[in-house]
Amino acid sequence: MQPSGASRLLYLVKMRRHRTQKLANPTIIVHGGAGDWPQNKHSIGLAGVRKAATRGFQILQQGRSAIRAVEVAVIEMEDNPIFNAGTGSTLNFEGKVEADAGIMDGRTLRGAGVALLHHVKNPISLARIVMEKTDHALLAGKTVERLGEVYGLPKANLRLPERVRQWKRAKRELENGSIKYFSRNLKLVHDKGRFFLGDTVGALAMDQKGNLAAADSTGGVSLKLPGRIGDSPILGAGLYADNKLGAATATGVGEIAMRLVVSKSVCDAMRSSTAQGAASKTVRDVTTLAGRGLGIVSLDRKGRYGVAHNTPHLCWAALTKDKGLVSKMVGIR
Ligand code: ASP
Repeated sequence: MQPSGASRLLYLVKMRRHRTQKLANPTIIVHGGAGDWPQNKHSIGLAGVRKAATRGFQILQQGRSAIRAVEVAVIEMEDNPIFNAGTGSTLNFEGKVEADAGIMDGRTLRGAGVALLHHVKNPISLARIVMEKTDHALLAGKTVERLGEVYGLPKANLRLPERVRQWKRAKRELENGSIKYFSRNLKLVHDKGRFFLGDTVGALAMDQKGNLAAADSTGGVSLKLPGRIGDSPILGAGLYADNKLGAATATGVGEIAMRLVVSKSVCDAMRSSTAQGAASKTVRDVTTLAGRGLGIVSLDRKGRYGVAHNTPHLCWAALTKDKGLVSKMVGIR
């Protein structure tokens, strides 16, 4: 039905604006964690992030939302056991999975995290349900798993034999005194990073309307105490997205990301700086204030992405129209 009078004029102005609106170039960047990636896993990790970036980018090219693109990219990595998220999550001190995930929509500033999940196949989809269907920004444990059941989310065994082997090895190291459990967290990450940081996943996207979104998912740090919740489901710490600033997600020692509110800090820095400038500055600040143990990917309002870390590796891939698919597993010592 066509409107009439003043509302018709408004309608025509809106339609015209809609037609002449320039579409943004869709962009996606994903990461597969800041842990110490052993050489023999580099190519599998890189293939995993490239596939996730490609899947997310396809969603953006179809004109669909940034929020759906980051969800799809993260699902891809949650289902890939090479990554410490969803199936293949690392194990806590008791040898159990307690997975966390978070998602945020930069258009509405709505976002939510879920934590301490044992058997939800795709924690990121549960985070999206909490964001869209509840009034909360963080839900943990059995109650939120029941919410997943109500919405028909599939369950899975997230605890894989490879992770059980890693967990047993880490426990032995702990018992023979070669790692001092969590008492000197940052030094441990430096010396024994492979035991403590997993291969958490994250994704940032800009859709054709210029909307930004962020998502992340993790089994958390290996040997964490039962009940420990990391940065990944916490808005501002593990992830943040605001159309007016940019989007960012962190990986590494969650306690650092929470204490320094890392993802929001990166977004604030993007007021006056590119995605790369903001990520590099924040990692420099983190190194000064808290030491090593953190990686960041960022995306600014113009669709430029940034990557910075002070951990041994950061496995990531980005896909844009201009630069195509770029991926790296950078090593620093
Ligand atoms: N940030 C995650 C956590 O602390 C771990 C990681 O990124 O590897 O739970």
